[in-house]
Amino acid sequence: MSDAAPRPQLAHLTAALDELRANGTHFKLRILDDQQAPVCHYDGRQVINLASNNYLGLANHPRLIEAALAATKAFGVGSGAVRTIAGTMRIHMELEEKIARFKNVEACVVFQSGFTANAGTVSSILGKEDFILSDELNHASIIDGARLSRAKILVFRHKDVEHCEERLQEVEGEPGKKLVITDGVFSMDGDIGPVDKLAALAEKHGAIMMVDDAHASGVLGRNGRGSVDHFGMHGKVDVQVGTLSKAIGALGGYVCGSRDLIDYLYHRARPFLFSTSHPPSVAATCIAAFDILEQEPERIERLWANTRYFQGELRRAGFNIGGVTTPATETPITPIIVGEGRKAMEFSRALFDEGVMGTGIAFPTVPEGKARIRAILTSEHTKAQLDQALETLERVAKRLGILG
Ligand SMILES: *Cc1c(COP(=O)(O)O)cnc(C)c1O
Repeated sequence: MSDAAPRPQLAHLTAALDELRANGTHFKLRILDDQQAPVCHYDGRQVINLASNNYLGLANHPRLIEAALAATKAFGVGSGAVRTIAGTMRIHMELEEKIARFKNVEACVVFQSGFTANAGTVSSILGKEDFILSDELNHASIIDGARLSRAKILVFRHKDVEHCEERLQEVEGEPGKKLVITDGVFSMDGDIGPVDKLAALAEKHGAIMMVDDAHASGVLGRNGRGSVDHFGMHGKVDVQVGTLSKAIGALGGYVCGSRDLIDYLYHRARPFLFSTSHPPSVAATCIAAFDILEQEPERIERLWANTRYFQGELRRAGFNIGGVTTPATETPITPIIVGEGRKAMEFSRALFDEGVMGTGIAFPTVPEGKARIRAILTSEHTKAQLDQALETLERVAKRLGILG
């Protein structure tokens, strides 16, 4: 019997995939042939790339590449162990100190990814007698961390601070700790979480305040310091998570806060304790990236200028980019709402054939009937590239009946 012969044990997976195919939402991975750049090749086709989180072009910045190569030559390709056994290299500590200074906090711990930073932190700082107040659109890694903590999860309506307060009042007399948690920037709609109001609410109720700044890192605040800086809430947010995988251009996640928070996570966060630390090249890359944020703020200015231009032109063309039955984007994340999942996927495929890479996103990642193309601007897109993408979007949308 060959390895490929069907076995009944996994027949339910085949059935689930057949259902995706019937819905028109099954996808094949698009394969990048060259670098993550504004114009690049996927599956052999040249496209204008509107799908990447490489907000500031750092994934291929020459200084970051140099830093990675130098660290590899000096320290090898792997760290050889988890952080708590033998895998803490000096360069890991340098990165943590650098981020802590950048974010103006006492201390920082770096995780292997933003996902593990969220999941590892939420699950270790709370227990089953505690309560987590979570925005309904928070990222999957927060939800998984909340489930792993075994705390009671109280979901509040998207960005609804009053609803969050009502839910806090439901558990007012309970002895357990309370954690209020929100994304700084919501990854599917691009709107900004009410970090200022939620932090004030948390303060009033003695709750821990936590923010996930995956899409805010390098994008919001002075030099990309994130949502806490954007709202001027320094010292009011107990736990700040960020990612090194998006604007920072490499891979990883971090948690910023008090020295004791970080020391506790060193002792209790399971991804930190049970999964190997970054290769030295990754740490070196990230250190160089934070230097670039300080030294080349014009990248962030270009990112926002491109965002204003592109979103303005989309609105002018009549696209629904949120704000009516979905949240309104306030950042470079640009949802182009189509509605039906099948239609969004068809739009995405047609755009690709015409040289524009825009990922189609459907249920369950976004609500049923709110399927979309999610476009993300970067500082590195030229006006000519954006104009060509806009022309293609409009032409294909008209052909498919998405625009009238
Ligand atoms: C991408 C993302 C993460 C995960 O970050 P990675 O570094 O890619 O693991 C966490 N939270 C939010 C809101 C994200 O968008």
